[in-house]
Amino acid sequence: MHPDFRQPVRGMRDLLPDEAWTLRFIEKNARQLAELYGYEEVITPIIEYYDLLAAKIGEENRRRMYVFEDLGGRKVALRPEFTASIARLVATKMASSPKPIRLFSIGSLYRYDEPQLGRYREFWQANYELIGSSKPEADAEVLSLTIDFLEGVGLKDYVLKVNHIGILRSILGREGMHEERQNIIMQYLDKKDLDGAIRAAEEYGVSNKCLKSLKNLFSIKVDDKDEFVKKIGNEVICEYPEAEESLRNLSDIIDLVKGWVTNAKFYFEASFARGLEYYTGIIFETYVPELNIAVGGGGRYDRLIEIFGGGEIPAVGVALGVDRIMIAMEKQRVNPPKTRRARVLVIPIGESNIAEAFKISAMLRRHNIPAEVEVMRRSLSRALSDASRRNITHTVIVGSRELSEGKIILRDMRSETQETIKIEDLLDKIPS
Ligand code: AMP
Repeated sequence: MHPDFRQPVRGMRDLLPDEAWTLRFIEKNARQLAELYGYEEVITPIIEYYDLLAAKIGEENRRRMYVFEDLGGRKVALRPEFTASIARLVATKMASSPKPIRLFSIGSLYRYDEPQLGRYREFWQANYELIGSSKPEADAEVLSLTIDFLEGVGLKDYVLKVNHIGILRSILGREGMHEERQNIIMQYLDKKDLDGAIRAAEEYGVSNKCLKSLKNLFSIKVDDKDEFVKKIGNEVICEYPEAEESLRNLSDIIDLVKGWVTNAKFYFEASFARGLEYYTGIIFETYVPELNIAVGGGGRYDRLIEIFGGGEIPAVGVALGVDRIMIAMEKQRVNPPKTRRARVLVIPIGESNIAEAFKISAMLRRHNIPAEVEVMRRSLSRALSDASRRNITHTVIVGSRELSEGKIILRDMRSETQETIKIEDLLDKIPS
């Protein structure tokens, strides 16, 4: 037996009622947003074939998968993300569905990351994928949905970090660099190791002109999109005209979003790359000032679905990290609304009134009023003080004297007033 078996396994957490409440609040918002934007929920398995999950996830994430052989000898893994499963599902079951397809998923994911604040080995994501359109309005929709998500849970201060992976890929592609080597450079960038990325490019034999362009490119970090476009235009496009299309695409997407979203803050960083290898277009992450790790991330992936045999189907998506959004809400002092509804405790006085107390509680629940029964046989005063501690709004005291007249005592715990009323009047007295 493991000596620490009374603790959750490293990287795993118990969510106590308040935390679980916040998680479910975010989940509820995520689901409402999906409905508002027309994303339909799909539920995919937590366990998938290792090969499916490993296909395009990037070296770093690949090494962090929970991989095991099941009893049938299959090499399987716990999903570290949703996108591979969604791409599989679309390729195999929905390839001929009318486009666009808008899909939503929410659930737990598993990565053997090094645990720290906001980084766990089991975490939750709300995931949205818009499949079938390569047009900038599809990317713009996903960005706007991301902003609405953050606003919807009550976050006010956040920024979207944006880049277009096509810019860097066009430069490296022009230099004849193989995709796998490009991916290694992306991994360095994902870890913010710019020197490492430059060193790797040098090692792979890119031209001096390219090294100079990369160094210039990696220094471009600005808040303003037009300035970003101008700077990259000056530094890179004259040498690598293929990058222009990507830059124009990024510009079109941001212009579209800004056409209807006026309150979002953007940040453009040309050295920004993401660990997942399947991105082909815009990539983005969202940050709050209180946390130096992203609360969400996404981008366009136009070639993933074809890997699973679904033909060329372009797609763009975003994943929001529920755990980190919980932390961001706490830091920005956003409290998920606690239920304002009545919460009733029914207290039987003496053993003979227990059945009646249960009958009353059942009636309340049938009318959608949350009701608990005092099941510890505590004295009335102990039961009442326990009720105030637990935010009970009303108590119903069931005593023999009142019952003999078909009555009970209803106590309002907030005003500390009480009245004796007929059982049939109880429902009118409690706000549902
Ligand atoms: P990714 O799938 O890497 O694009 O991650 C999308 C979002 O999931 C991130 O922005 C985080 O909010 C969240 N996330 C990723 N890894 C973890 C982790 N180990 N623990 C908690 N949240 C995570």
